Amino acid sequence: MTQFYNAYLNLPNHFYRAVKPQPMLEADLVHCNQPLAHQLGLNFSAQQWLDITCGVAFPDGWTPIAQKYTGHQFGYYNPQLGDGRGVLLGQVNDAHDQAWDVHLKGSGQTPFSRQGDGRAVLRSAVREYLIGEALHALGVPTTRCLALCHGLENVRRDGLEPRATYLRVAKTHIRFGHFEWLAQQNDVVSFKALANYVIQTVYPDLATLPEPERYAQLLNTIVSRTAQMIALWQKVGFCHGVMNTDNMSVAGETFDFGPYAFLDDCQLHYVCNHSDTQGRYAYSQQPSMGLWNCQVLISAFAHVISEADAQHAAELYINTYNQAYLSGLCAKLGLANSLPQDKHFVADTLILLEQSSLDFHVFFNKLVYFNVEQRHCQSNPFTEFVGDSQAWQQWATRYQARLALEHANQEAAQNNLLHTALNPTQFETQRVALINTNTPQLVLRNYIAQEIIEAAQRKDYAPLTQWVHALREPFSVCDALKAYSAPPSQKGQKGLALSCSS
Ligand code: AMP
Ligand code: MG
Repeated sequence: MTQFYNAYLNLPNHFYRAVKPQPMLEADLVHCNQPLAHQLGLNFSAQQWLDITCGVAFPDGWTPIAQKYTGHQFGYYNPQLGDGRGVLLGQVNDAHDQAWDVHLKGSGQTPFSRQGDGRAVLRSAVREYLIGEALHALGVPTTRCLALCHGLENVRRDGLEPRATYLRVAKTHIRFGHFEWLAQQNDVVSFKALANYVIQTVYPDLATLPEPERYAQLLNTIVSRTAQMIALWQKVGFCHGVMNTDNMSVAGETFDFGPYAFLDDCQLHYVCNHSDTQGRYAYSQQPSMGLWNCQVLISAFAHVISEADAQHAAELYINTYNQAYLSGLCAKLGLANSLPQDKHFVADTLILLEQSSLDFHVFFNKLVYFNVEQRHCQSNPFTEFVGDSQAWQQWATRYQARLALEHANQEAAQNNLLHTALNPTQFETQRVALINTNTPQLVLRNYIAQEIIEAAQRKDYAPLTQWVHALREPFSVCDALKAYSAPPSQKGQKGLALSCSS
């Protein structure tokens, strides 16, 4: 029997407020995430899904609460944050006894709503649904949506928009900002209670460590997961858009989606958030903003760890990020192993892509056609894509030399193990397989998300269903969606920046 509970209620009272959701009546159940429901062992009827997602009735054991937290938004500390338009219903354990938080978003005002209406709109709900499935399939840790409802009510944003409510599943809803809040108040007892809660629910392997090592290891784990997550964002060309510390999960999952985007053209300083006029969260800035956020978290942990541990955590972020980024980008280039000097080749490749105004994803898709023997051959789809400029000819020479070195290194390693080395055909097969499994054919570009949203607003949910399925298998593309695997062709389809309003 599935057990529903809310473990957050065991924490001190001032950590949360009990909230009565404002139900969304007369709604459609737009989508229910069957694979995720199955993973969590949930087999509700359609009516139960609708009731839960609209905030009408919850299973016994779930108790809606709004969590208090704070955070740094665009560099400035905001003490007034908390769940303003969502509630934590509680947890459910999967077959492996892993606990998952279930959160209802858009369920109305809470004591932390400030001037806001506590509502969510269909546009943002659909975007969050799509991106959760897309990132998950790309191997990027992320929260995911479990169910989505579309209401009759309209909500005022830039104009009037249909209201939606949705369920979000996460390893935890504890943000960096939760720890900032307690540190700001010098409340060490509560800080430790929260740290132990995160350990119990997300990192149980740390539970047996003594203090203060337990807290130092918790911090190290959060920091290295964050570094790995951001390295994956860079690898898949994902821009989060609002990397404020209240939007950073201590589970290292991509969290709280706003005006996110995947790159179209390889614009390294691309800013997907209209309101981010300084480019604080530009694609190229994400790794250092991740470090900045971790440094805020490290400062909060300074209450319970030594200075040396704090210093170590910052270095851990940098080393973890650099390693994960380099191996991720090398894999996209068809290189099974990365060498320290590859960082120059990777950086130069991206700069050349930017200078050539080429699509970030399609470049790697086309790289499978790179012809090792006849690299300047005009009829080759790779050469056709990048052009035959001198810069690309030089790049091809460099790539070819790097491949030769890779093959030689692999041969030497195999010989040491007395194994037979790969012959050139097998090596080429390995290269192509690596490229194909490290860059998807289908990318959730913003213009595609916009088409799906506009259909959903007309109550045509078929494109959403079709894309949810397609994004779960992004490394191949069905005939019906083939056209979407090409770079955006029409004016206005590329590099769309969105507003923060959601
Ligand atoms: P976000 O931009 O979604 O990360 O939200 C930042 C803060 O503003 C959080 O504390 C939210 O709960 C709150 N917030 C954002 N939109 C609303 C809204 N429509 N109603 C109430 N609170 C909101
Ligand atoms: Mg947020």
